[in-house]
Amino acid sequence: MSDKPEKFIDENGLRLDGRRIDEIRPMKMEIGVLSRADGSCYLEWGKNKILAAVYGPRELHPRRLQKADSVLIRYRYNMAAFSVEDRIRPGPSRRSTEISKVSREAFEPVVLTHLYPGAVIDVFAEVLQADAGTRTAAINAASMALADAGIPMKGLVSACAVGKVDGQLVLDLNKAEDNFGDADIPMAITSEGEISLIQMDGDVTQEEFKKAIEMCKEGCRQILEIQKETLKNKFTKLDEVEIPEDEEEDVSALVESTLTSADEGEACEDEEVVEEADAEDDSEDVDDVEDVEDDEEAEDEDDVPEEKADEVVEADPSFEDVEEEEDENPEDDEEETV
Ligand code: ADP
Repeated sequence: MSDKPEKFIDENGLRLDGRRIDEIRPMKMEIGVLSRADGSCYLEWGKNKILAAVYGPRELHPRRLQKADSVLIRYRYNMAAFSVEDRIRPGPSRRSTEISKVSREAFEPVVLTHLYPGAVIDVFAEVLQADAGTRTAAINAASMALADAGIPMKGLVSACAVGKVDGQLVLDLNKAEDNFGDADIPMAITSEGEISLIQMDGDVTQEEFKKAIEMCKEGCRQILEIQKETLKNKFTKLDEVEIPEDEEEDVSALVESTLTSADEGEACEDEEVVEEADAEDDSEDVDDVEDVEDDEEAEDEDDVPEEKADEVVEADPSFEDVEEEEDENPEDDEEETV
């Protein structure tokens, strides 16, 4: 780790990386980068590089984990072993568990969870390169991946940190400011201006705290513009896709039939198909019961026809690890959630 700089802000009011105190690092992002995820985003913010992937909503198994009236959101923040200067020990740590928890909660006010009772949405935020502010960068990327997956949300979530160096508040801390500064206050703010995550490490006065919130809101407003622009670009590009004339009829027929079946709901299902499916289900039930020893598991598996198995998600061990991880790195800094 480099030594503490003598000064963080020069006589012209510029920081070590040449930014003004209220300026965020350059940010760029791209969505839809992973073909196997339902939604994804690659984000670069200063030297941070984050990949976010969203899977779902999918039916959650085992059923005892399901929430009867809403979707379960699971969030896994993970730093790749090669993301920091000294190689990081792979697997969950106290720090990543804490960040996963508070980041998941940052999305709870915006995701319309009641639309998918019993389902799960998995969010993975992988830090490929870390350079201070990774939790906020990951939230920005996850927000875009959720939008890319078409998850119904009231709005996007944007996140940024405010800190204190040389007695002054600064927006979006760089590595030196994060390591040696007097305070670090990461926040996530919804597009409606609601704070959905705020943590604090270090000391600030009440006045400074209020000012930090205002600075952060302004930073998040700028980030929200970049996020909206990225989404707009993607959908403008989709609009520009031209359908060849000879395929136009097929496409409109397909749209028409999709809308009709959506209107008619299950009533339009072919009786024969329903009967066949029932028969298959029954035969699988017999096999399943023979194979499964545990009663509870048997109950879950009975209800899942084989052809649906792909759509059903098992309890993800990586999330369980996160929840059950013991404090193996007690020396890790844990920020106080306000
Ligand atoms: P954030 O990345 O959200 O600012 P921290 O304040 O905990 O979270 O970490 C600040 C920076 O310190 C990280 O962005 C990363 O560059 C570095 N860092 C964090 N944890 C480790 C670690 N275990 N080993 C090496 N560097 C780390």
